[in-house]
This record gives sequence, structure tokens and C-alpha cells, in this order.
Amino acid sequence: MIRLANFISNQDADAVGGGRIDVFEPAVGAAYATIPDSDERDVKRAVDAAKAAFPGWSQTPAAERARYLNAMADGIERRLTEFSESESRDQGKPVGLATTLEIPRSAANLRFFAGAVQHERGEFYRTDDRAINYVLRQPRGVAGCISPWNLPLYLFTWKIAPALATGNTVVAKPSEVTPYTAWMLGEICREAKLPMGVLNIVHGLGSKVGAAIVSHPDVPTISFTGGTSTGAAIASVAAPMFKKVSLELGGKNATIVCDDADLEKAVPLIVRSAFQNQGEICLCGSRIVVHRSIMREFTERFVNEVRSLKVGDPKATDTDIGAIVSRQHLEKIQSYVALAKIEGGKVVCGGGAPHLTAPRCKNGWFHEPTVIVGLSPTCRTATEEIFGPVVTIHGVDDHGEAVQVANCTKYGLACSIWGRDIERLHRMAAKIDAGVVWINTWMLRDLRTPFGGMKQSGVGREGGDEALRFFTEAKNVCVGW
Ligand code: NDP
Repeated sequence: MIRLANFISNQDADAVGGGRIDVFEPAVGAAYATIPDSDERDVKRAVDAAKAAFPGWSQTPAAERARYLNAMADGIERRLTEFSESESRDQGKPVGLATTLEIPRSAANLRFFAGAVQHERGEFYRTDDRAINYVLRQPRGVAGCISPWNLPLYLFTWKIAPALATGNTVVAKPSEVTPYTAWMLGEICREAKLPMGVLNIVHGLGSKVGAAIVSHPDVPTISFTGGTSTGAAIASVAAPMFKKVSLELGGKNATIVCDDADLEKAVPLIVRSAFQNQGEICLCGSRIVVHRSIMREFTERFVNEVRSLKVGDPKATDTDIGAIVSRQHLEKIQSYVALAKIEGGKVVCGGGAPHLTAPRCKNGWFHEPTVIVGLSPTCRTATEEIFGPVVTIHGVDDHGEAVQVANCTKYGLACSIWGRDIERLHRMAAKIDAGVVWINTWMLRDLRTPFGGMKQSGVGREGGDEALRFFTEAKNVCVGW
């Protein structure tokens, strides 16, 4: 068993209470590591360290802070293989996905915000001939960054990088389900000689560590990515304390296929948008809304493509779909497939446990990519977040109805629209209730753009200037002429 530790003041630390929590490898269904079962005492130590580091770090010139972030990115890139294999082992994702996309993106997050703070422009307003105003944007203190298990290091660094770049110090909690690469990041900080206490990482349960960060009076800024109900619990604690909160929450994203879509090109991408990372990406398109005139052709092509996906050992380089992150999550996915049948759905592809050839995976947690038709777009299966390799397909008679169906959930995170009539695509994009709309593409992310959700998918935006603003306090200085 590998023993992971908290990272406080650049030192490894066990939980004050001494307890440990098992960490599982989903592909084999067995524990391989343990993390400290931390509580509010560990969070207090981390916050004290971050508070002590804040005056020095916030006054460090931006170029110097950027140098540390770039050094951290260098460290991740130097150990790309080790990071990718660890992420794949911990989360169940195919190692190829971690190597080509997620770990490079983690380094890119650090580099992006290192660059952004050095190229930030200020604001200046002249009030006739009476005064000039300028805006100071100052770091807010200790930021609490809490992230989920689906894209562990990618989402962890997406929060930490802008917080540190703008001069805040950080207490961060990765998901207890996937803590490994966050632990490795502590080593990277030490190698990069990040000043003591600037970034502190506390492992453990959301109900103890996460809750203690959110309720700590000396953590005025909370950046959270995770489920909608957890987001609501955090908001209810943070609001009366007047904390600044960013909530990136769940989704149930629509993929709209118009009658003039180029199916040859679109279908492989729509399959990827549905099943990448076992469908465990908040941006996955899990409800496909298709113009009825092409429903039969689309469904045939889509199902054929899905059948060609290889479910297998995440270690294998030819695996498309790896393991489901936990037994509990696998059971949730299975329960939704059962519900779909009760709701009148027909499973046209997948639906159960795949046959795997790798002997080491015989007790692992896997689920076939699953396609369900015949359901009402308003039923539970089609509107609740499953967060796994399960999609539903729904026919519509016109493009107005497609937008209506896309908007008929409580979520509003992302949507992709596929077609050729570009004017119509723009009109539809404007009417979709989602923070991100892709036209003829999916998950193409420019880190300068605002990222976040509407309705119950969240509050606030991350990315680019939005993140720089979130982690700073704006102060107007007005100088009489
Ligand atoms: P959870 O909400 O269960 O957990 C997210 C993080 O919050 C974890 O670190 C968790 O710890 C912690 N946590 C749990 N309870 C509390 C609490 N009371 N106070 C503070 N922290 C707490 O989400 P999942 O990890 O299950 O992630 C999946 C969800 O994340 C999906 O709904 C998905 O859509 C969403 N998501 C949203 C994204 C977006 O950008 N909008 C991106 C990626 C995912 P622990 O692990 O110990 O429970």
C-alpha cells in the first residue's frame, strides 16, 4: 500500500487524528494506497500556513510568481509518463487520454495563468475634467479550491493556477476518490521551490475536509467543482459568511443533430462527446436530439460506431473506454439503465458488463457504452445526470423543438449543435440555456474564454479574465483632478 500524505508548509503530514482512507484502482477493484483521513484540525494547520505565506506571496512580483508556476508546469511535463499512468490507475481512464490530453492540459493551465498575469491590462476612467479613476485588483487572501474525481489534476490545476498567479495562497482538497496526482503535485511544488505555505493540499472526505475549508472564517474565497447538491450545501454555508464563491456543477448536456448535419464527419465526434472518459466529463453530451428526417440513418451510424469502441484495461494503449471510477458510481449507472427500461426505453447497444480479456481486470468496475432510444425527453433517465457511458436519443420534428428539448432540464452547462446552415446554427446557439455552446465541434477549449454553467449547473465563470477577476478584489481609486 502506498501511503500518501497531506502537503502543508511544503512538508508531508499525516492527519492529526491518525486515521487513513483506502484509495482504489478501479480497473482491478482493489485498494492500492491510503490517504490521511483529515479533519478540521488539519484544515486549520493548512489555513494557518497559507495565511502566514500570504503577505510575502501577494507582494511577490507577478513575473516571479509566474516563474514558479512555469517551474511547476515543467515538473509535470518532465514526469508526463508517471503522471499519466498514475492518473489512469487512480481514475480508471485510458492511459492514452491522460497522456495526450489531461496531463498536458494540467501543465497548460499553470502556463496559461503564468502568462495571463503578466499580460494583464488595467482599467482607467476619466470623469470629465474632475477626476481620474483607476482599478486596483488585489488578491483576496487564502483561497479554498475543491475539485472532483473525473479529471483530477486537470481540474485541480484549473483552480489553483489562477488563484496562485493572482497572489492568493491556497488550501486545496482533491476528491478522496482520486488523490494520487494531487499528492504528486506536492512533490512538484517542492522541486519548484515554491515558498512554504503558498499551496497546501489536504486529503480526506468532503464531509470533513471540504466542509471545514468552506466554513473556515479565514478562507474568504471558495472555488468548487462538483455535484449540484454539494454546490447547494456549500452555498448555504458560504452565503451568510459573505464569501466569494464560484460553483461549477453538474450537467445533462444536449447534442443537437440538425437535418443538414454532415453525418460522416459528425458521428465519430458525437460518439467521442458521449463516451470520452467513460462519459465521466461534465461536458459529455448524454442526450442526443435528432431531427426525425435523419433519425434512422443517424441512429444506425451512431450505434455502429459505438459498437466499435473497445472497453478494456486502462493501461492498454488501444482502450477507448476504461473503468468506472468506483463501485458506488458503477451501481448508480446500472440503476439508471434499469430505470430506463422501466420508463419504456429500449437499449439498442450495450447495457451491461463487458467481457474483458485482461485477467487483472476480472474484478474491476466496467460498463459497456450504452445507447437507449424510445424515451420521453422529459423522463428521469433523459433529464438527470448519470455521468457515465449512457446516452439517450430523442427525435424532434423541427429545430425549434430541438432547442426546447435541449433546454428542458434543470441544468445549463454545455451543448453541441451539428449542421450546415450556419445562420440557423447561430440562431439556435443564442437560444440554448448553456454556458458553452459548440457548433460542429466538441470540447474545443480556448483557455481565454469564460467557462461555467447556467441554471443548476453553477454560479460564476472560470477561465481567462473571469478567473483573474474571481480571485481578486476590485478597488476603485478616484483621484480628484
Ligand atoms: P461531489 O460534489 O461529490 O464532490 C466534489 C468535491 O467536493 C470532492 O472533493 C468532495 O469530496 C467535496 N465535497 C463533498 N461534500 C462536500 C461538502 N459538504 N463541502 C465541501 N466539499 C465537499 O462531486 P463528484 O466528485 O462526485 O464529481 C462529479 C460531479 O462533478 C458531477 O456532478 C459533475 O457534473 C461535476 N463536474 C462539474 C464540472 C463543471 O465544470 N461544471 C466539471 C467536472 C465535474 P469527496 O470526494 O470526499 O466527496
